[in-house]
Amino acid sequence: MSKVQYETLYHGIPASSGITIGAVLVLGSKSLDFNDAKTIILEENIDKEIYSFQAALKKTKEQISDIKEKIKSQINSRDLAIFDSHLLIVDDRALISETENFITEHLTSSEYAFSQVVNRYIKIISSLPEKYMQERSKDIEDVAHRVLANLKGESCLCEDALPGQRIILAKDLTPSETVLLDKDNTQGFVIGTGSQTSHTAILARAMKLPAVLGLHNIFSEVQSGDIIIVDGFTGTVILNPTEETQNIYLEKELKNEVFFSSLLTEKDMTSETTDGHIIKLAANVESVDDVEDINTYGAYGIGLFRTEYLFINKDQPPSSEEQFVVFKKLAQVAKKKPVVIRTIDIGGDKLSEKNIFNSLNEQNPFLGSRAIRLCLQDGNIQVFKDQIMAILRASAFGNIKIMFPMITCLDEVYKTKSIVNEVKQECDEHGFLYNKKIEIGIMIETPSAAMIADHLAEVVDFFSIGTNDLVQYTLAVDRSNENVAYLYQPSHPSILKLIDQVVQAARRKKIWVSVCGEMAGNPFFVPLLIGLGVNELSMSPASIGPVKRIIRKIEMYETEILAKEALLCSCASDALNLSKEMLYNIAPETIEIITKGS
Ligand code: PEP
Ligand code: MG
Repeated sequence: MSKVQYETLYHGIPASSGITIGAVLVLGSKSLDFNDAKTIILEENIDKEIYSFQAALKKTKEQISDIKEKIKSQINSRDLAIFDSHLLIVDDRALISETENFITEHLTSSEYAFSQVVNRYIKIISSLPEKYMQERSKDIEDVAHRVLANLKGESCLCEDALPGQRIILAKDLTPSETVLLDKDNTQGFVIGTGSQTSHTAILARAMKLPAVLGLHNIFSEVQSGDIIIVDGFTGTVILNPTEETQNIYLEKELKNEVFFSSLLTEKDMTSETTDGHIIKLAANVESVDDVEDINTYGAYGIGLFRTEYLFINKDQPPSSEEQFVVFKKLAQVAKKKPVVIRTIDIGGDKLSEKNIFNSLNEQNPFLGSRAIRLCLQDGNIQVFKDQIMAILRASAFGNIKIMFPMITCLDEVYKTKSIVNEVKQECDEHGFLYNKKIEIGIMIETPSAAMIADHLAEVVDFFSIGTNDLVQYTLAVDRSNENVAYLYQPSHPSILKLIDQVVQAARRKKIWVSVCGEMAGNPFFVPLLIGLGVNELSMSPASIGPVKRIIRKIEMYETEILAKEALLCSCASDALNLSKEMLYNIAPETIEIITKGS
């Protein structure tokens, strides 16, 4: 039963379009902490507390075994062994008897007793110098969260293994937790943190599920089982919708389905402006499981394959051979279409929770050892080389290109290119076939890279502008922080000027330039990007249809005038309004439905 009895409306950040109506599952794992207030119990209740503790342990064991069973066909035996080690922790005699003794001696609730005991274990083990022991403390923490969730009667991420569709509500959900969710049983997301370019939003779009992010105030009022509507177009969430409201949204949902299905029938049409300019529309792909999307949605190829998801939630980096199998599949599914494989971009909000890289615990991960910086550190070079070898070998099977993220200076490009050359030699020694002329490109996602684009263009074959980070680093706005989301403005004059500078530099050196940040898939920015002269837009596959429909109604010449005017604007909203005005003139209905859902 909901804590609120009547229909209530909330507004968050629209992060992935679509509408869904259904029951909520509140995920509690992130909100659990080990510092609960001390709750004193009566002596006569000791047995009851011990019984609840044992029941929570039993439930935890069942959950872990269930998950293990469910995913055993999807992961290798080494990863599967994690579940065995988790089961051993639940069975640990010392942990159990210490907790039971704590309850008896201090007359406290089982939650408090368990928190105190387990917290002491975690502190001792995590302070040991051995990396192995530090990793074990993470496992204990994981299991402890699960036990605590069961003691409190809250849901834990693990419950996603239960059958039945539900809308996930969580105060926070990291990318590594998002990829663990059971896609088939997830209808949509409402998350307390994050904004449009946080990686959880990007994953929601890849999953084609509606999502509203940065919505705090719903959590005290909703509980698992409540019915809500999630409108990912407008960022509206409705708790306890009346029948009348549900019908309105069902109608909206239907209208959407009809519209998006009609776009699919246009998937083989050329992405061409009315005056004959072709703008290539490629797909951003996060998982090999989604690679068929490029054919479903008529993508020109893969403009960005985010390889870091092959590393997240793993105990060990995937071997070169394992990665080769994935990249080869991409090449084969894409046939002759281009596939841009971006090397590991771990860091920022895509932290590998298992710390499989020799990375430090840094105060400011977005500005720290992220992406190429991490790969070029001494302890990580071999992992980097293994990945490059996998990409090179896969290049024998299709049109593969390699791309490096987070470049800030020429030196990083020289270093990475010399590593590629070393790995090419190793391939020769092993007799591995590869494309000797494989194109090497870089992401332009830092202001420094954009400003030295002229120099960078001399040493690479292509640029891909990562506007998600370019906006974050230029405007000093954390891309996943909902509190400053209002300042995250891709049409800010500084961003348009940097993009213009990059395109001009690329033109002078005759290399191609793409945009693969979320800006590329947002219809409102499309006229600006085309007008600035970008050759390719790469986006979540489902955005290709709407963007193509707009491009087919646009005149290139008009967008060039628009871009010139926008470059003179003094603020983001002026530039955006110019673009919106153009779109409402040429395709009012399409724009209405793409942005509002009806
Ligand atoms: C970007 O920064 O725009 C980008 C595409 O990379 P990511 O979102 O993975 O950081
Ligand atoms: Mg980036």
